[in-house]
Amino acid sequence: MKTAKRIGIWLLGMLLLSGCSSPSVREPESMNRNCFAMDTYISFTIYTDVPESVLDMAEAEITELESLWSVTNEGSEVYQINHAEGEPVAISEKTAELLNFSLEMSGQTDGALDVTIYPVLTAWGFTTGSYQIPSDELLSEKMQLTGTDKVCLLGNILSMQPGMQLDFGAVAKGYASDLIADSLKQNGVTSAIFSLGGNICAIGSKPDGGDFKISVQHPWNRDSLGLLSLSDCSVSTSGTYERYFIGEDGQKYGHILDPKTGRPMISDITSVTVVGKEGKLCDALSTALFVKGLESAVQYYREHDGFELLLLSEEGEIYLTEGLENCFTAAKSYQDLYVHIIRR
Ligand code: ADP
Ligand code: MG
Repeated sequence: MKTAKRIGIWLLGMLLLSGCSSPSVREPESMNRNCFAMDTYISFTIYTDVPESVLDMAEAEITELESLWSVTNEGSEVYQINHAEGEPVAISEKTAELLNFSLEMSGQTDGALDVTIYPVLTAWGFTTGSYQIPSDELLSEKMQLTGTDKVCLLGNILSMQPGMQLDFGAVAKGYASDLIADSLKQNGVTSAIFSLGGNICAIGSKPDGGDFKISVQHPWNRDSLGLLSLSDCSVSTSGTYERYFIGEDGQKYGHILDPKTGRPMISDITSVTVVGKEGKLCDALSTALFVKGLESAVQYYREHDGFELLLLSEEGEIYLTEGLENCFTAAKSYQDLYVHIIRR
């Protein structure tokens, strides 16, 4: 079901992206590639005239990163880390960088982003699809196995307590998109847009110099909430509308957990879109600010630079930060939504 749902979202995203320009205007020639990796659909549109081998390289790089960071592939580095049972593990430079960045973001977000949450995620069944509400005993047992303060990384030697496990699901796709963007640029790409699931990266602007039009999906209605006109940046969206289950108690449980309680976060935000220069920051923040909730997300924005936000509240109002004020156009059916402009 998860896969079918993701195909739907991906196709919708593609339709919306391709449907952005008026039918009378011919799109400039582009080279396209779609693939599936890192548990998500990936699509590239490259407008610069470069050989197709550039896309082969990008695809190979994603496959290589997946082989490092997959939690489920038995050969991956993360799998090895997660089954080390307390023994120190020598990790690659890329994984050490991703871990260091994730730990730094945990500190900055007061623990809202926590890449050690995996044992708890497993207890809820999010990792297997066999969803269940864990008992309080099981939850507190699993919570003992979490905490970024218990992760010890000295150079490239990683040590954790037996039973602790890492999951980079909240940051890896954004991190990967930065690496892929660097490779594409090094190979001469100056105009392109690609997406790794909910993480979009625009390299430069459209060939005519105009902005890319990036559709933000309405979390529940599955249509477009509106378009962001942007160049040369990353965009990441998080919410619990994609992966959740309804418990026996009739309540909805989403895949983003509150690391303080180990329970699926019930946020007053339905979706968080983060725009910035760095995909890794956008991805980390889209998850963390969902956990923080509306008031705290706005406060975080005022205290930090390097990104802009588009939030949709549970009450159905849009919160747009000042840097996006002139970049967002609500879709026709959402033009009546109240838009709050947040200033730094
Ligand atoms: P997605 O990867 O589904 O697009 P996110 O970037 O928001 O969305 O990442 C959500 C994933 O991160 C979850 O599926 C889970 O693997 C992991 N996760 C859940 N809660 C947290 C958290 N508080 N901190 C870090 N990772 C989390
Ligand atoms: Mg994220």
